[in-house]
Amino acid sequence: MSVPENVRQKLALAIPGTPVEIAELLSKYVKELQEAGAASTVPNQQALIPVLAADMKRKAGGTGSDAEWQHAAKQQIEGNQTTALTTSDDRYTGIEGGAKFDEIHELVHICSAKGGESTQHNFKLQFNEGAINYFSELVAPKLGASVAGRYATETDLVKKLVKLIGNPDASKKLFASTFQGKIDDFFLAVGVAYRKLGDKQPDGKNKGPGDKAYTTDQAAGTEFQSKVKNWSEGWLKARLPTLP
Ligand SMILES: [Zn+2]
Repeated sequence: MSVPENVRQKLALAIPGTPVEIAELLSKYVKELQEAGAASTVPNQQALIPVLAADMKRKAGGTGSDAEWQHAAKQQIEGNQTTALTTSDDRYTGIEGGAKFDEIHELVHICSAKGGESTQHNFKLQFNEGAINYFSELVAPKLGASVAGRYATETDLVKKLVKLIGNPDASKKLFASTFQGKIDDFFLAVGVAYRKLGDKQPDGKNKGPGDKAYTTDQAAGTEFQSKVKNWSEGWLKARLPTLP
């Protein structure tokens, strides 16, 4: 079994209790990935092209000519101004001199699923980026890296959901959603917390009739889940706590 597969298998069974335990656990596994050589750098953006071309060809089952994949990769990398890649072989490739934080963020993706393509990634890209970044911010200081502001909107929204649920339960539920695919459980916890507020929103304003009408925690959680699925930022912000 490869090192990333082994890490994911352990995370699939892990039940950390607090944010501190989660940070310790994830930093241990990110370090294992680093030591196994899962992250490397190339001198410049042009040097990312063959890395992506090889991955595209691998994903296509080895069909197509190298020149075609090279062309497609060049267009994607130059078009998106890509500065780093996570490929389906569980590897991160960055550009020399890039932020260490970006490497950690990508290795946390690899902890969640092969090539980062987890259940939560498939549920909603933005929510997954926010969650991956939330955990990257916990891990970075443990690995001596400073936190870089990435996916600010997505990360803030995840932090607000966590604040609504309240730690340590929130971090545990977000961990299980991100690394074990337990998305419904996370949103059920959101529903429980929201209904506990009674007639008030987290900011103390009165809830509207629709917001008071949920008859079960499940119903409230399902509504939040669908608003995240549609990335309805305005709706969510009006019903979530503010951050300091
Ligand atoms: Zn990401």
